[in-house]
Parts: sequence; C-alpha cells; structure tokens
Amino acid sequence: MPELEAVIGLEVHAQMNTKTKMFCGCDNDAFGKTPNTTVCPICMGFPGTLPVPNKEAIAKAVRASLAIGCAVASECHFDRKHYFYPDLPAGFQISQYDFPLAKGGNVHYDIIDASGNTSEERSCRITRLHMENDAGKLSHYGNSTLCDYNRAGTPLMEIVTEPDLTSAQDAVAFAQELRRILISVGASDADMFKGMMRFDASISLKEKGTKKLNPRSEIKNLNSFKALEKALQFEEKRLRDLWKKDNGPLKNDITVGWLDDEEKTHVLRDKETAGDYRYFPEPDLPPLEFDTKELEKVRTGLPPLPREEKKKLSSLGLTEAEAQQLSADADLRQIFEAVLAKLKDAKRTSGIVITQLQGFLNAAGKTVRQGPGAQAMLDLVEAIENGKISGSKGKDVLEKMVETGKSAPEIIAEEGLEQISDESALETLVEKAIAANPKAVESFKKGKAQALGAIVGWIMKETKGQANPEKVNGILLNKMKAN
Ligand code: ZN
Ligand code: MN
Repeated sequence: MPELEAVIGLEVHAQMNTKTKMFCGCDNDAFGKTPNTTVCPICMGFPGTLPVPNKEAIAKAVRASLAIGCAVASECHFDRKHYFYPDLPAGFQISQYDFPLAKGGNVHYDIIDASGNTSEERSCRITRLHMENDAGKLSHYGNSTLCDYNRAGTPLMEIVTEPDLTSAQDAVAFAQELRRILISVGASDADMFKGMMRFDASISLKEKGTKKLNPRSEIKNLNSFKALEKALQFEEKRLRDLWKKDNGPLKNDITVGWLDDEEKTHVLRDKETAGDYRYFPEPDLPPLEFDTKELEKVRTGLPPLPREEKKKLSSLGLTEAEAQQLSADADLRQIFEAVLAKLKDAKRTSGIVITQLQGFLNAAGKTVRQGPGAQAMLDLVEAIENGKISGSKGKDVLEKMVETGKSAPEIIAEEGLEQISDESALETLVEKAIAANPKAVESFKKGKAQALGAIVGWIMKETKGQANPEKVNGILLNKMKAN
C-alpha cells in the first residue's frame, strides 16, 4: 500500500448583497419573506421575458475578483447552462462558461492552531470567478415537494480553486479567509446561517510524491464550515478504504451528497460533464466589456485585505484572535479605531470594544450595527477618562447602553452613577470610615498594609461604588500615615 495524500479543490457559490436580483428588479433579500412573493415573470422564467444585467452585481463581482488576485477579462459573456429540475423555472441557468469574468488568482491564508496563533502560512490558487443566477428552493414534505422561487435569480459569484488544498482543515481555513475577503470588499454578506455561501468540494487521492491526479469525488452543496470539514474528513477516509480494497483510485469521477444528520456521504451519480449542460452563449444578453483603466481604479480603491489588517492589528499588541475578530468585522473595527484614537492604548481599547462591547452584544443577540456606534462609545470613554464614572461602572453603563440603546450620559444621570471625586466630600467619607473600622486601623498600625483594603471597601459599599477609588486610596493613606 503506497503512502497516499489528499488533493482537494473547492467550488464556492457566494450570494451577492445587491438590492435587486441578477437579471430583474425583484427584491434580492428573500430572507423571512412569504414564499413566492419576491418574484416576477423574468426570474420565474416565463417565455418571452428578457433579462437585464444588474450593474451593481457586476461591479461587486469585479471587486471580489480583484481582491482574490484574479485578472478581470476585458471581454466576457453569459451562457445558458441547461438542466431540468423544478427549482430552475427557465430550464437553464444564466451562467458563464468559456469566457468567465475573471481568471487566475491567489488567496493567502493562515492555519490557526488550537491556541489561536498562526502555525502555518499557505496559499491556494484561484482558477476563475464567474457570475450566474441562483435557483429557487425546494422543500420536501413526505411525498410532496414545495417550490419557493424567492431565491431564484439571486446574483451569485462562483469561485473555483485549483486543487491546492490538502486536508479538510486546510480547506476550511481557506474558505474562511475567502469569506472574510468577500465581506471586506462589500461583495457578499456571506451569512452562513442564511445559506449565502455554499461549497462543492472535490477530493481525490494520489500517491505521495507523484503528480498524476486521479478521478475525484465531488461532494455537493455543503452549506457550513462544519459540514465542509466533516464531509471532507469522511470522504477522505472512505476513499482511502476503497483504495485499499480495490488496490487503486476511483475508476471515474463521481458525485456524492452529504447527509448532515448521519454524518456520511452517499453516491448520487457519475459526475456530469460540460456536454451534459449543452452550454451556448445567452442570446438575450450582449457581451460585457471592461476598460483596463477603470479596472485599475477599482483595484487601487479596494480596502486592505483582512489578513493584512490582522497583521497590522497584531503589531499593535492585540492577540491574533482579537486581531482576527476586528479584521473580519468592519463595523467593529471602525469603533475600535475611534476609541483607540482617543485612548492611544490598544490593549485597553480591545478590553472595552472586543471583550465588553462584543460580549454584551452577543449576550443580547445583537449585531454590531444594532449596538452603540463609534460616537456613543466615545461618550462612554470620555465619561471614564474625565473621572465621571469608574472603569468598572463603565462596564455596567455599557451593558445598559447595549440593552436600551440609551447614551452613556443619559444612563449615568438616570441611575445617579456619577462618581464622587470632590476632595472635601471624600475626606469626610474617609474620616467616617476610619472611625467605623477601628480593627482595620489597628492592624494597619501593626504593619498589615492590606488592612487598608477593608476600609476602602467600606467606603465603596457606603457610596454604592460611586467614590473615586484612586482618590480614596490616596487620601486614606495620607491620613493613616499622619495618625
Ligand atoms: Zn424577478
Ligand atoms: Mn454554479
């Protein structure tokens, strides 16, 4: 038995976050809508209707192409890809075949170890990126099948990789980086829970050290990173067992499905070839032409890649996990940068923005956009910085800001949280505390420095945490030494 290694390539379908569908004016946000309410004769495939390409979708696909290092073709066109299935009302999908929008890219990504640090830097070549429209959705109930065409016509990018990936873990790391890139250029929301990013994964085995590629198994329609990882792990093991039994690789390409509940693949059919789809140029759409200068303008206007952002943030002293989180979320990063500009301390800023804000948002089930924005966070930080409230009270205020949507000054005023910083008020408090805690005073005099903590604690309790602890400490220490 020779030593074998896995060869993996992905086809990724990502929905674009445009206002309208790929070839008609229907609402592109079908999530939660009543079935078959965001449809029209065009996306329902009625005979005699004519598609109109969505300019916004094309612009987004171009941005995505350039971000993954592809060259955008100066000319490309759409093709009809035929197959018959109830989710495809026209009987063909409008896709791109031999002249795709973009070719030949490369995505760099990191393999992250269990402790959250980069253990290896890798890259995967991109074969192509093309545009197409999505099909509808079928739901099976016993012997009946229901069709919802709300999703039919949604703009998709299909991104195809070279077979550069070597394991399930590797494929997932690549796919996650790709997702971050698509989000960062604003081409897709890539929300996995809403099925906005789906994978077909091809895997084959080859003898280690040889170049020859063997027939592959294509696992269709994986819609989570977990499914991608588990399905590839399962199929790799299955192919290894088959190799042992048959003393060699698969005889031909096959297509398999992934059963999420049973955590196994099942063979669907021999893989279809291009001929089965009877591609021909879409006669109702003219070819697309791109100006090289315009493309260059788009390229130079792209935001930095998330991985570069991550490296920059790490260099400020954040952990890789914190840097990852910020680089993956533009809204959170914007808040982080605003607070950092004020505090000039990356560690403290990440404590407030990542640990506290993100923590409260998660607990409340809210997105960053639904929580306090940069200005609201700056108001909070301002209140802490000028001594109005303590840092620990600040945390409580932030929690209430997330829950209620109110501003920090409002909450501080409403709840009477303002910190007592007035010197004479604090002196009176300290004197009261000394009188009320003779035992602690006694042990301090005997050399037990930590006895002061009990007195400070008494003051904090007395003032419901509103006394400025630093000032209390200072005044107390002076008085005890003078005694
Ligand atoms: Zn429509
Ligand atoms: Mn496709």
